[in-house]
Amino acid sequence: MTLKYINNQLSINGHDVKTIAEQYGTPLFIYDENMIREQCRRFHNALQHSGLKYSISYASKAFTSIQLFNIMQEENMGLDVVSEGELYAALQSKIDASTIHFHGNNKTDREIEFAILSGVEYFVIDSIEEISRINTIASTLNTVVNAILRINPGVEAHTHEFIQTGQEDSKFGLSIKHGLAIQGIHALQNAPFINFRGVHFHIGSQIFESTGTIRTIELVIEWLVNENISIDILNIGGGFSIRYTEDDLQYPIEDGIRNITETLKSECRKFNYALPEISLEPGRSIVGEAGITVYEVGTVKEIPHTNCYISIDGGMSDHIRTALYNAKYELLLVNRNEKSDKTVTIAGKLCESGDIIARNTKLPSSVSRGDLLVVKSTGAYHYSMSSNYNQMLKPSVVFVSNENIREVIKRQTLEHLFANEVI
Ligand SMILES: *Cc1c(COP(=O)(O)O)cnc(C)c1O
Repeated sequence: MTLKYINNQLSINGHDVKTIAEQYGTPLFIYDENMIREQCRRFHNALQHSGLKYSISYASKAFTSIQLFNIMQEENMGLDVVSEGELYAALQSKIDASTIHFHGNNKTDREIEFAILSGVEYFVIDSIEEISRINTIASTLNTVVNAILRINPGVEAHTHEFIQTGQEDSKFGLSIKHGLAIQGIHALQNAPFINFRGVHFHIGSQIFESTGTIRTIELVIEWLVNENISIDILNIGGGFSIRYTEDDLQYPIEDGIRNITETLKSECRKFNYALPEISLEPGRSIVGEAGITVYEVGTVKEIPHTNCYISIDGGMSDHIRTALYNAKYELLLVNRNEKSDKTVTIAGKLCESGDIIARNTKLPSSVSRGDLLVVKSTGAYHYSMSSNYNQMLKPSVVFVSNENIREVIKRQTLEHLFANEVI
């Protein structure tokens, strides 16, 4: 994405941010459609390079939108969904149901039936008891469904180092170490209405290098060899890091995928094990850096020798990650280009002290009511985590490409807030 000042005004890919905000209002999410497509192509190119059979599915929870799903279809991406609602949204788009994977650690019977009837490619199994439930529902529908098993390899990889133990205590996956994973595979192999296709792991988020994934692939292939289990699909999940601030490392997609695919090839060669298809599930890395939020500044509160609170017209209802994870963000002033020389705290307008967007960040000292601010890298887990707390309206979402600007999700109206109320 290109965010730069042209004639003293911030622009995104050459489009004036203030003009877009004036047309669609604030708070507003703007996505660079070209960057979304570029990220998809980088993953495709890296995997094509490996010569392996592969598939990539976008983890739809990062940002669920029908127009985005249409772009995913155009970019040959499948889709991961974890609920009836995400599946329903996917089915409203051009995405082919046969590229959808149904995840989740607590799939309801209704979701299982809906997913089977929709013709999803496979289920990602997350518990032993789920196997018999899916088998029963599939038998009732007189169909055989594909499934892969989510295993817990006992490896945790995120932030700074990967940790190879201590991750056994997780609600996700079936533990290799405690024998649950192999028990799950045997149960799948014995389920007449389930076709066991392979295994899945997802070892963390904001993973910025390939070491943890490589160790996990080595561990998993050795385990499968020892257990004498063959697979068609090895799904290594998502979690590829993005840059929220200058201090963050962006996952090196090309190098990282090369390391990963080379490891898979050499491990399989070493054990004379049949090469499986490799699958990836990037979410954040597809949409995260491609999105920004635009807010209008309201109250500015200067507390002498303490802090300066700049309040904006949104908050934790459209930006929960700072409150939830103490995530860090960088901001830019939209309507003029001045040096960021003052330390300020950007606060939301919701009734929680924790409703903060960025603590002790830098902005020009002249920022005041009516100015527009951009928060960078808000494309993933912002709109999709938005809420109506304080009866805030969910913002609108706009896609810009080199050629055009289009609204893809409209702002909620006050009527939407009461649509389900019994009056
Ligand atoms: C959340 C999730 C992803 C995507 O993670 P990102 O950090 O957005 O890439 C992929 N696979 C699974 C199983 C997940 O839970």
